[in-house]
Amino acid sequence: MEDAFRFSDAWGPSRIIHIHRPSLGLKAILVVDNTACGTAIGGVRMAPDVSLEECFRLARAMTWKNAAAGLPHGGAKAVIFGDSRMPVDQKETIIRAFAGAIRDIADYVAGPDMGTDELCMAWIKDETGRAVGLPGAIGGIPLDEIGATGFGLTAAIDVARQFIGLDLKGARVAVQGFGAVGKHAARFLAHKGAVLVAASDTSGTLADADGLDVDALVGLKAAGMPLRQHAKGQKLGIDAILDVPCDIWIPAARPDVVRADNVARLKARLMPQGANIPCTAEAEQALHARGILVVPDFIANAGGVICASIEYRGGTQHAAFDYIDERIRANTRRVLEEASKTGQLPRAAAVGLAEQRVKAAALTRRWR
Ligand code: NAD
Repeated sequence: MEDAFRFSDAWGPSRIIHIHRPSLGLKAILVVDNTACGTAIGGVRMAPDVSLEECFRLARAMTWKNAAAGLPHGGAKAVIFGDSRMPVDQKETIIRAFAGAIRDIADYVAGPDMGTDELCMAWIKDETGRAVGLPGAIGGIPLDEIGATGFGLTAAIDVARQFIGLDLKGARVAVQGFGAVGKHAARFLAHKGAVLVAASDTSGTLADADGLDVDALVGLKAAGMPLRQHAKGQKLGIDAILDVPCDIWIPAARPDVVRADNVARLKARLMPQGANIPCTAEAEQALHARGILVVPDFIANAGGVICASIEYRGGTQHAAFDYIDERIRANTRRVLEEASKTGQLPRAAAVGLAEQRVKAAALTRRWR
């Protein structure tokens, strides 16, 4: 009994649902963490190696992210065990069966995450009547296509750079992971005069101290080609991105890429976290000790979920961009001011802010 409640604390989770349909090979878990702020929104991740623990950690992260962003949503996450590259008709069956199993969990709204996309969300909406991150044809705002998270990350950077006296014009930027988040962040920063000195993907690192052509790289990725196919720049190993001298180092790929054993290699002044949990706790402490300013993931990368929330409420792309800009700027300023006043890590200040909002919302609820 105790084991079944091993993740329980004062915040949640309010429910954990295991779904198993042996005839289909469907195994999935839904964790609804905390709904004090409202109906929970959280992504559906599909991968062979997901776990209950990962699902719980991501659901809790969504509780903080949604609350910090001031959204009327609690936090949740779902994981489906399986290879997301399975044939599309098999994937449709699995996703629709998953959707059928969560149809009555009215305090959860699914969104896209690793291994699922807007088509998957359309299937879930078709089965349950609710989902976010939908295709434009059924009222969705294509958040990855428009770069909602990269846009928000740029807003966070524009505020954070003032805390370290950094001018964006000419600032050197390195981006780890040139995907939906990384490439759009590079694009928005280039518009503000920053210079992309390195970018990486699974094919390796591309570097040029004189600056890379961001539009050309975006075009390359759109054509399905890896960064190392670019004609110019130095081609380096995947880890070399860590050693590139720069002002702003943006993690936008995998979790735990900066750890105690490699944190000393970073030569940057600012780390706005595009990826979720890109640093271990020790590494984040080490960055703080070295005076490298971190804008924590759930403050800096909230653009995507803000966009999803606006879509859920019937808003427009224009409204989503306005909200992202206003909210991420305000939160980044508040968190960094609090951190510099108290000397604590920005992450601790950010969690404090989110906890305050969840507590205030919980006071309005009958069951908490
Ligand atoms: P994506 O799949 O579009 O892009 C990821 C990119 O990272 C790809 O270019 C891939 O080649 C590269 N990559 C993977 N492993 C790498 C490695 N070890 N080194 C260098 N590059 C590597 O994914 P995304 O949507 O851009 O998400 C990136 C991160 O941001 C994830 O941690 C995700 O959870 C987080 N995030 C995404 C959003 C969003 O709106 N898409 C919102 C919040 C957080």
